[in-house]
Amino acid sequence: MTKEQKLPEPSYEFLSSLLCYSACGPCTVTCGFCKAQVEAQDEHDSITYYEIDGRTWIDDCPCNGPSRYEQWILCNRETILSFLGAKAFNELRDAKQFVRDVKQAGYKPQLIRDLDELD
Ligand SMILES: [Zn+2]
Repeated sequence: MTKEQKLPEPSYEFLSSLLCYSACGPCTVTCGFCKAQVEAQDEHDSITYYEIDGRTWIDDCPCNGPSRYEQWILCNRETILSFLGAKAFNELRDAKQFVRDVKQAGYKPQLIRDLDELD
């Protein structure tokens, strides 16, 4: 996507998955994508913003900065799902080996007994 193309608004689902903050005034928050600044004048005024990849995005900032990440994730979802599946498989394999090692050592705390009941 070239810089001249306007990004679509990030979806509600995507924004809901990000860390969200609210700053009460008086304060100024700067968009980490376009450098626009928004001011909250007093304690009755607040600014909602999100954080992604170490950058701040002010809610409803027209630059729609987070959309670039959302589009990348959606375009690469098969790769991401494959990666997450491989990571989950390896972590489950390692956890099962750990349980076998603990059992072999003769240690059987309640958690291991609970896991036995799941098999
Ligand atoms: Zn912006």
